[in-house]
Amino acid sequence: MIETHYMNRILLASAFLLVNISAAFADGIPSVVPASVGSISAMVSPAPRVPAPKLVEPHLHIARSNVAGHARIALTFDACMGQADERILSTLVRERIPATIFVTARWLKRNPAALAVFLQNPDLFELENHGQNHIPAVDTPTLVYGIASAGSPQAVRQEVEGGAAAMVAAGIPAPHWFRGSTAKYDLSAIGEIRAMGYRIAGYSVNGDGGSLLGAVITEKRIASAKDGDVVISHINQPTHAAGEGVAKALVDLKAKGTEFVRLEDVEDTGDDKTTE
Ligand SMILES: [Zn+2]
Repeated sequence: MIETHYMNRILLASAFLLVNISAAFADGIPSVVPASVGSISAMVSPAPRVPAPKLVEPHLHIARSNVAGHARIALTFDACMGQADERILSTLVRERIPATIFVTARWLKRNPAALAVFLQNPDLFELENHGQNHIPAVDTPTLVYGIASAGSPQAVRQEVEGGAAAMVAAGIPAPHWFRGSTAKYDLSAIGEIRAMGYRIAGYSVNGDGGSLLGAVITEKRIASAKDGDVVISHINQPTHAAGEGVAKALVDLKAKGTEFVRLEDVEDTGDDKTTE
C-alpha cells in the first residue's frame, strides 16, 4: 500500500532515478533524491518511451453470513517492513479476534517477537505471503507509487517464492495466498502467480489508506465494514496515528457482533482472475 516516501516519488521517472529508488528501497530507508538529479536527467537524451503496463488493484469479497447483526468480515493486515504495531497485535490477542497477516521476508527477519505471538496463537492468525522484498508484482519495468516493479516474470516469481521460502524457514505453514506490495498487478503477473498455485488477495475496504490516515477516519472506515467485506490495513507502522484507529475499530466491530474470519475459513470471490 501507499506509504509517505512512495508518494514523494510518484513524479520521478527517469531510468537514472529508477536505479536510485530501487537501491534506496532495498535498504528500506526512505531517501530524498537530490534536486540536482532532475537537471542531470534533463540534459541527457530522453529515454525511449515504453508504454506503461495496465495495472489493476483487484477486489476481494468473502461469502456473507446473511445473519442480521452478525456481519462476517475478514480482517487482513500487511506487514510490509519495519516494526510490529503492538497496539493492533495486542488488541487482536486480547479480544481473540482472528485475522490474516501478510508478511514479507524482510519483516519476518526483523520481528521475531511478533512472529512468536502469531505462532503461539494459531487459532487467531493465518499467515500469508506478502513477498520477499516488498517489490510490486508487475512483470514489466515500471514504477508503482515510485517503487520499481519486479520488472520481469522471473523477478515476480522470485518475489513470490522468496517470500514463501522465508515463511517456511521461520516455521510458518506454506502460504496459499499472495498479496503483492502496493496491491497492484498487471494481468500477466496475476496469471503467473495463479499458475504457481496462489490465490491473490485483493480487498474491499481500504481501512487505513496505506497507514497514512488519521486515527478517527481509520476507525470509522474499518468499523463501517459490511457483511462480506475484506478489510486491508497495516500492522507495521507503530508510530502512525492510523494504528490507533485500527485498534479501536477492532473493539467497535466486536461489540457489534461481527463474525471475524480468516481467508482460509471461508469462500471468496476475487475479480481480475485473482481467485477463480
Ligand atoms: Zn505492503
